[in-house]
Amino acid sequence: MNDRQALLRRLPSVDSLLAHSALQEQIRVYGRELVVEAIRSQLDNARKRILDSAQGDVCESALINGIEDFLAREEDSSLKSLINATGVIIHTNLGRALLSKSAQEAMVGAAAAYNTLEFDLATGKRGSRLAQASQMLRDLTGAEDALVVNNNASALILILSALAKEREVVISRGQLVEIGGGFRIPAIMRESGAKLVEVGATNRTRISDYEAALADRSAMILRVHSSNFKQIGFVEQPALAELTALARSRGVLAVDDLGSGALIDTAQFGLDHEPTVQESLAAGADLVCFSGDKLLGGPQAGIILGKLNLLSQLKRHSLARALRVDKLTYAALIATLEHYRRGEALQKAPVWQMISRPLHDIRETAEKWAEEVGGSVVGGESTVGGGSLPGTALPTALLALASESPNRALERLRQTNPPVIARIADGRVLLDPRTVLPEQETDLLAALKSIV
Ligand SMILES: *Cc1c(COP(=O)(O)O)cnc(C)c1O
Repeated sequence: MNDRQALLRRLPSVDSLLAHSALQEQIRVYGRELVVEAIRSQLDNARKRILDSAQGDVCESALINGIEDFLAREEDSSLKSLINATGVIIHTNLGRALLSKSAQEAMVGAAAAYNTLEFDLATGKRGSRLAQASQMLRDLTGAEDALVVNNNASALILILSALAKEREVVISRGQLVEIGGGFRIPAIMRESGAKLVEVGATNRTRISDYEAALADRSAMILRVHSSNFKQIGFVEQPALAELTALARSRGVLAVDDLGSGALIDTAQFGLDHEPTVQESLAAGADLVCFSGDKLLGGPQAGIILGKLNLLSQLKRHSLARALRVDKLTYAALIATLEHYRRGEALQKAPVWQMISRPLHDIRETAEKWAEEVGGSVVGGESTVGGGSLPGTALPTALLALASESPNRALERLRQTNPPVIARIADGRVLLDPRTVLPEQETDLLAALKSIV
């Protein structure tokens, strides 16, 4: 008899593998359906190998290893929650701002049931999906009108496409920034059909540079907040109020890309002062745009505030439809804005809870961890991150763990469940309580015990 057929006949059945003691825990964790899928896929592979080469491992233990690998890969293919012990609050790679409890609940509610996204309960007719968020943004900032799009990069593209296509946009050479992920302001301008006119020098731009560059073809002066780098030394940029006055006198628009979009003054926490949205509007910017998931502490979004007539032009542009946000974003954004309306953002929005968390409280947590797992408590710095407030930091207390091989320790912490992300300095593994949620502490301590 043919070797191949003999081998094929020795392959276990789906049912016998399903009943194998080694897979019972996997069935509990992943559910029967996924385990059956994993078994079928491993059996198919084994059959192919046998038919191709008359070879193949038909023993159960080899198949079960393959099934476990399949399930582990399956788990990796969805977003996995982790513990951020880096002390970087708005960590772009780890998902930027965490949402408040009520913002989380609002998203779940919007996902589970039909809602008033575009429905006016009073009239029974179609309503605007923007109405409620727009009203709140106007109340909070004093802007005439508001628009919410997919993210701040979209906001810039929409503004430039709708208001500066085939016209000139004057911008300081000190502000031609890369906003991350390889996206640069000049490239965004080119894509939207606006012509970039650079003025000044990298370190110094004066109001007279702008004056000289404005011409009939000019559509706007764009200020881009250098949110992810800091220039120090022999540097100069005109104040926004000077730019808006010049723009008005020459009949062009003044647009301010704030990046982070703080509504609360960061200086009260010992950080640099991050320009606020209210200040930009008060300084006369025609339009201001910023991200929803940086210092606002909400969902990913691009928020555009400013003059009524400009916002209505933006809303009519076909890109506005392409860049619009969904019900989940609105639900989370409205719930986040509600915290500001009630004056409770510092207590309720995780970004602000973390920024405002007192040092003594952080030190107590670090000391508690040290008692449980060893190591020592050392001073250090947490950062806001997310391209906000570069070069300034919040004093913090860190748990420092000595390690023969800190890189290996970091790697092992990434493999725990949930994974822990830490950092290394001076050959020690450092863990910052500021960005660890209280409900994650038990898992964190278990992970640390497993590696020390
Ligand atoms: C972060 C940032 C952006 C991009 O915002 P996203 O919401 O990530 O698209 C644009 N401009 C500035 C100045 C920024 O800091």
